[in-house]
Amino acid sequence: MTLEQTLPICIAGTWRLGAGERYASCYPATGEPVAWLNAASLDDVEAAVQGAHQAYVHSGWAQRKPHERAAVLYRIAELIRQRAEELAQLQRQDNGKPINETRALVASAAGTFQFFAAACETLEETITPSRGDFLSMSVYEPMGVVAAITPWNSPIASEAQKVAPALAGGNAVVIKPAEITPLLALQLAQICEDAGLPKGLISVLPGKGSLLGDALTRHPLVKRVSFTGGTRTGKHIAHIAADKMMPVSLELGGKSPTIVLDDADLDHAVAGVLYGIFSSSGEACIAGSRLFVARALYEPFMTRLSAAAAQLRLGDPADERTQMGPLISAAHRESVERYVALGLAEGGRLRLGGERPSGGVFDQGYFYPPTILEGLGNHQQVCQEEIFGPVLVALPFDSEEQLIEQANDSLYALAAGIWSRDYKRAWALGRKLQAGTVWINTYKQFSISTPFGGWRDSGLGREKGRLGILQYMEQKSLYWGMNQQPLAWAGVEAGQ
Ligand code: NDP
Repeated sequence: MTLEQTLPICIAGTWRLGAGERYASCYPATGEPVAWLNAASLDDVEAAVQGAHQAYVHSGWAQRKPHERAAVLYRIAELIRQRAEELAQLQRQDNGKPINETRALVASAAGTFQFFAAACETLEETITPSRGDFLSMSVYEPMGVVAAITPWNSPIASEAQKVAPALAGGNAVVIKPAEITPLLALQLAQICEDAGLPKGLISVLPGKGSLLGDALTRHPLVKRVSFTGGTRTGKHIAHIAADKMMPVSLELGGKSPTIVLDDADLDHAVAGVLYGIFSSSGEACIAGSRLFVARALYEPFMTRLSAAAAQLRLGDPADERTQMGPLISAAHRESVERYVALGLAEGGRLRLGGERPSGGVFDQGYFYPPTILEGLGNHQQVCQEEIFGPVLVALPFDSEEQLIEQANDSLYALAAGIWSRDYKRAWALGRKLQAGTVWINTYKQFSISTPFGGWRDSGLGREKGRLGILQYMEQKSLYWGMNQQPLAWAGVEAGQ
């Protein structure tokens, strides 16, 4: 790939230039173009969906035995592993995450394909207890064309979480990656083809979500949408889906509380809170962005936390030692800065950070330092809205009752963290927190085998987990008559 080239995109089994506007994917650490491509157009959306439908109907993929589909998914996992370093470097350039993080995302994508290959070939259909002269079964069928709409913050891992179970379930997939991070979805489509996936079963439509994602969601041949992104977009998609009576899964935003109880192991809590909010520069839906600390511990804990946060290595994403890279774009950094200014206007104080770094690489990219705000109330805007950057709001609490009320007082309910040496106490608190995931004495740890998703404005449905594949399948009940006699109601006798 050279910079002069315009990258082809994958539409219905052919690699060709998109029919939309030419644009560049840029490296957030320098603002320089990494690759040029043409966005897809509305005609490309139509071609991708029609091609996916044709491939779904005619390629025989849906009819392959589960272990045969699994074999292709295992090969996809293997090819991702073979190309891991190249993919990790490309992803670093596409979205500016530190190289160690993009390596982990690529490894997780390979693991996801492997996991859903196994889920596919071990998925059981059940014979249900019979309540009459019949045998009743519950089986699963593919849905058809699935749309996978993904955000910019964790490309390849987010795509794998949708594409792997959708293909495992026998479907075709059209991916709409975020406009600004299209490169890994294109690579994934190439790998799927190289692994032997029938052509047309996967397409990628780079470009604007408000145009392409919207059209894809509305398309009558699209039978399911799996979306990860912001809550406002998720609600828009849910409205369209309601009109089509189409199932959707929505992985949305968060404003997750991390709680340090007065009996916490402080070394573990400091390390976990830092990782929870500042890794990925806070550009994570599960970022632990609201910190609640028992008042008795508040000052000593915040002193240690701030000192450790000030030591985090912000800088060049290509450097193996870097812990925080740049934010995704100039516009996003401005949005983070506006939130910090708002926090100060609301009466907050800066405990750390709050100013753009300068000099060297910092003058080129969209860097922003670890920032801690305090002196605010949980009801205030910066404590309620998702900032999606390296900004932590810290609040002391006096009683567990007050803590639970405030921790749950959010439109979001994606994740939460608890730091305590007392597992019984943490268990009781964990059961009272309203969140899709609660981490106890750890944070931001993930397993593909564990379901993930949010409550309330953080989303609908679950991804991952062995049964994640069923999100992409329709359930069907089959009844087999075992009667020796005709059904009694009609009064027909056997042999009449
Ligand atoms: P957006 O909702 O803006 O974008 C997500 C995807 O949706 C992008 O591909 C975008 O395209 C597309 N899109 C935008 N408008 C529409 C539309 N009208 N119809 C269909 N698709 C559309 O979110 P961000 O990209 O800003 O991502 C950050 C958000 O994602 C944060 O709020 C974060 O919390 C959430 N997120 C949630 C995760 C979870 O698992 N719960 C994980 C990661 C992020 P384009 O960008 O090209 O316009």
